[in-house]
Amino acid sequence: MTDGLMVAVDAGKTHPVEVAPGCVIGGGRPVVIAGPCAVESVTQARQAGLSVLEAGAHMFRGGAYKPRTSPYAFQGLEEEGLRLLAHVRSITGLPIVTEVLDSGDVELVSTYADMLQVGARNMQNFRLLKALGKTAKPVLLKRGPAATLNEWLHAAEYIVSLGNDRVVLCERGIRTFEPHTRFTLDLASAVAAKAQTHLPVIVDPSHGTGRRELIAPMTRAALAAGLDGIMVEVHPDPDNALSDGAQSLSTAEFASLMADLRLGSARTS
Ligand code: PEP
Ligand code: MN
Repeated sequence: MTDGLMVAVDAGKTHPVEVAPGCVIGGGRPVVIAGPCAVESVTQARQAGLSVLEAGAHMFRGGAYKPRTSPYAFQGLEEEGLRLLAHVRSITGLPIVTEVLDSGDVELVSTYADMLQVGARNMQNFRLLKALGKTAKPVLLKRGPAATLNEWLHAAEYIVSLGNDRVVLCERGIRTFEPHTRFTLDLASAVAAKAQTHLPVIVDPSHGTGRRELIAPMTRAALAAGLDGIMVEVHPDPDNALSDGAQSLSTAEFASLMADLRLGSARTS
């Protein structure tokens, strides 16, 4: 089904994606991307950034444009959020990944971020995918909650076929009949995505479970399965987070997870 796709060239031989100098995804060493679901304030962003740096994260995440189920829920700080992300990069040196919700925002978000995230709900927003195929920024393509492996890989093909080969896939859970977890983390398809393409594949155990206590075991499972890294939500005060607190680690919990993983840097050499 992936025969003939550009993403399937060299299937199973991961081509590393350099996000910033010295920060490589798919280079053989797992990459940890950490930070809050949403950027909420300068204090929250600084605390989150400094603590994940200290714990050993390789990249910082944070949403400035939030795709929320309810239009009444916090929608993100938008450009002010992008400025705060750039501030976190300036004080930590960590490359930034953040979601771009709309093709009209690609240029603006690109001026602040090192890597552009396509959210799960936008995985088949073909206009957005085409716009990202024409940028020079690496793209983190989340799997849609109801997307098959085949649809996910074809979404990546939209970006790669237009000239941007720096695409990283992110498994973030799919919708099943099981309500105990927010989504069902599909590690098997993440491994299959890596085998059927040359793209690095990472896992998001926060959205993939919706439950803080499942983040550490699912992180270990993803790394044991040979995947290229994780993206985890970390908040200085998860119980008062404006979004996704239940699936966010506290800064202390994240530090303890990182100490347990003993990963080192994301450099290939
Ligand atoms: C996110 O990572 O901020 C996010 C909104 O995740 P997803 O698109 O996977 O729901
Ligand atoms: Mn979130």
